Amino acid sequence: MLDFFLDLILPRRCVHCRRILPAGALCAGCRAAVMAHATLFCGRCRARLPLGPSLPDGRGLFRVRSPCHPHHPYVLGAAHDYQGPVKSLICALKFDLVRDAGAELGAMLKEYVEVLGGFPADVLAVPVPLSSRRLRERGFNQAEIIARAFTTDVSPSVLRRVRNTKPQSTLGAREERLRNVADCFEAGADVAGQNVILIDDVVTSGATLQAAALALKHGGAKAILALAGAKA
Ligand SMILES: [Zn+2]
Ligand SMILES: [Zn+2]
Repeated sequence: MLDFFLDLILPRRCVHCRRILPAGALCAGCRAAVMAHATLFCGRCRARLPLGPSLPDGRGLFRVRSPCHPHHPYVLGAAHDYQGPVKSLICALKFDLVRDAGAELGAMLKEYVEVLGGFPADVLAVPVPLSSRRLRERGFNQAEIIARAFTTDVSPSVLRRVRNTKPQSTLGAREERLRNVADCFEAGADVAGQNVILIDDVVTSGATLQAAALALKHGGAKAILALAGAKA
């Protein structure tokens, strides 16, 4: 009811060009202007990775390795670069709390994965958890909103934050960011032997994804594909 009246007073607008919209978060023009990637990336150096043979149920996605950094704990799937309408979607979700922007990002992530090799079956889809303090401030975890639009089968409790950290955006070098998040995650026992899709809104230094992936590996996860709406 409240949403209905808010729509009357403040019409819904495209988060990028501010055009009035009947539904959703992006207008058709801005949606069409979004450029999606068509490869996976090395989680450490962001080199584009060749896709392997296509296997049923998207299982090929978990066979991709980084020849340049084979010991990095995850392979990165970033659907877009952090710019234009995608950047507007991520900012609208995180800072203006526009949940429809998260639904749009999740749908885009799904399209990206389907282009790469099909939606994988038998995986755990795990959003990167927020600290309890950030969660209280924002009221929701943006990574979980995206994950729930990406798949109906989300396992948010598999990974938890065991201590609060400083916001990564306030820190400088990658080493400083890695120190900030080191050992801040802990994985549950249900991760053992599973392929995991780790989901976040945007990847910048990759330090948070690295700490999360290491915790999953420590818990016995098999292969980890980290999916982000965008890479900065
Ligand atoms: Zn627009
Ligand atoms: Zn590399």
